[in-house]
Amino acid sequence: MVELTDKLTKFLAKKNHNHFINGIYQPSIGDDQIAVINPANEEIIGKVALGQKEDVDRAVAAAKKAFQYNSLWRRMSPDDRGKILYSLAELITDHSETIAQMVTLENGKLLKDSRSSDAGGAANTFRYYAGWTTKIEGETLDLSQPQKGGKQNFAFTRREPIGVVAAIVPWNFPVSIAAWKVAPALAAGCTVVLKPSEETPLSALLLAELAMEAGMPEGVFNVVTGDGRTTGAALTAHPDIKKVTFTGSTYTGKIIGKTAMENVTGVSLELGGKSPAIVFDDPVDFGATANGVAAGIFRNQGQVCVAGSRVYIQKKVFDKVLTDITHVAEKMKISHGFDGTADLGPLVSKGHLAKVCSYIETGKREGASLVSGGQSIKNKGYYLQPTIFSSPDNQQTIIQEEIFGPVLTAIPFDDMEDALQKANDSKMGLAATVWTKNISKAMAMINRLEAGVVYVNSPVRSDPNLPLGGYKQSGIGRELGKVGVYNYTTLKSVNIVF
Ligand code: NDP
Repeated sequence: MVELTDKLTKFLAKKNHNHFINGIYQPSIGDDQIAVINPANEEIIGKVALGQKEDVDRAVAAAKKAFQYNSLWRRMSPDDRGKILYSLAELITDHSETIAQMVTLENGKLLKDSRSSDAGGAANTFRYYAGWTTKIEGETLDLSQPQKGGKQNFAFTRREPIGVVAAIVPWNFPVSIAAWKVAPALAAGCTVVLKPSEETPLSALLLAELAMEAGMPEGVFNVVTGDGRTTGAALTAHPDIKKVTFTGSTYTGKIIGKTAMENVTGVSLELGGKSPAIVFDDPVDFGATANGVAAGIFRNQGQVCVAGSRVYIQKKVFDKVLTDITHVAEKMKISHGFDGTADLGPLVSKGHLAKVCSYIETGKREGASLVSGGQSIKNKGYYLQPTIFSSPDNQQTIIQEEIFGPVLTAIPFDDMEDALQKANDSKMGLAATVWTKNISKAMAMINRLEAGVVYVNSPVRSDPNLPLGGYKQSGIGRELGKVGVYNYTTLKSVNIVF
């Protein structure tokens, strides 16, 4: 059994956690709290404040003050700003075990995934964006028309930080997705109020503590805990927020977009997915393909926005590939996240397990064949077998709607045109994977797939330098990469006439 770090033991001993505003913990205006449950055993690991509108107002006011012209943060050179972000990356690395254990406790995921994806991913993202503070640039422009009176001119653009940013994040990668937003926003010179999911708020508070230790001035990075309906809604509607950067479901994204528009607040929306994995009859290697497709759906219990939850397999090899994937799934060990031999941990919450199970029932009712799994494990904790369906009907609910759990449906296809038609026949367009050794076929698929991210012969992995975002109802905008930092800037056009 893994022993909790001293830092985490001390942190959890607090039991009741307040908001992190203006560099310190501050109690909520109200008494309402949210219990944070360990999905592996259903025990309460702590309680956080349910932020009210007044708490959000306080956090936004702190962030606004920290953004004022001439504030410490605004006067700081890009180089010094970068050093703070780099120190934060180093501190995340130093405390990666504490962060990883915290994420496993509140989310349930395997500790090895918390270490690599959350702690490791967040450190990489802060380190990457530390380098961007000194590379934000405008352009010099030759205007298309002459100046009046034969005068000369000099025209250029400059990128300025947009202002106070509201970052609203989901529970599936609580620290790394927070980093995807907080790191570029701070690199651009903005200040931030982060609202983590009510399921996974504690790791966000640890991140805020480390940011202070890294030398972040007061008010630059604030965390308000709470739920979406009260806290998230108050943040989105706040007139002093200049940009809402949201990752979550398409349903919530639409609400956020409408609310933000009341104040003409900018939004970027990273939303749901229903990503296809397309396996042709000429894969590089059958075993590696089955492992890759299985990893693409079952990693993090399928609670991944880019999860390859529908696999299209060319008819000639349909039975073989489906059997291979099923073998991989049936060998997976289901256990709690601290069990180093586990392949699959619990789902995040009781409610989410019920939602995923109801999709399995819908699949059966609509006539899909259950190939493997489908049962929740009736112990304490929210465990579910990796589940595989097979169906020729692309319109079934389990093929069209995001399930966000360890549920894969296999669908046969005839040729490339058939694969493209079926893969693109979706409201979503986040990611896709293509499995073939034929590069011409892969390129043709890359050009015609309606997806924001395409991987060939590998499940989708994120990288700080590779933009992520969706086509269609999978979102608006991209995060990560250069575009990720430019998201938090606004353009000023200047023309000096002389
Ligand atoms: P939700 O949309 O339910 O919640 C996301 C965040 O929004 C949470 O912090 C939630 O708070 C908050 N929220 C909920 N309602 C409101 C509201 N009315 N106003 C403001 N904030 C609100 O998503 P989940 O947390 O269930 O996350 C899973 C979803 O995230 C999936 O659809 C997945 O595909 C998507 N996702 C997309 C990614 C991408 O890059 N495109 C990456 C990862 C996930 P609370 O939880 O406290 O209610």
